[in-house]
Amino acid sequence: MEPVRTCVGCRARASRATLIRVVAHDGALVIDEAKVRPGRGAWVHDTHECMKAALRKRAFERALRVSGPLDTQTIHPTTTSETAETAMDTK
Ligand SMILES: [Zn+2]
Repeated sequence: MEPVRTCVGCRARASRATLIRVVAHDGALVIDEAKVRPGRGAWVHDTHECMKAALRKRAFERALRVSGPLDTQTIHPTTTSETAETAMDTK
């Protein structure tokens, strides 16, 4: 059985493999490409709709249990593909 997680954007349940994991690091949201970072993770579909919904509802702050504001620019939908490419380059 595939592990199932809930997307913080649309609240639908989906297999872990079809979602991306986001963690809080140094007060900023970071996409956990390898899904292995320690601590709490928020799961979201890799779509602009779910990303935008999650950001609008501040669902990441809730899911990650952080009280302060998070720098959400780091995972803004328009920079998602760029972040993925950078992560791949550093491997
Ligand atoms: Zn979703």
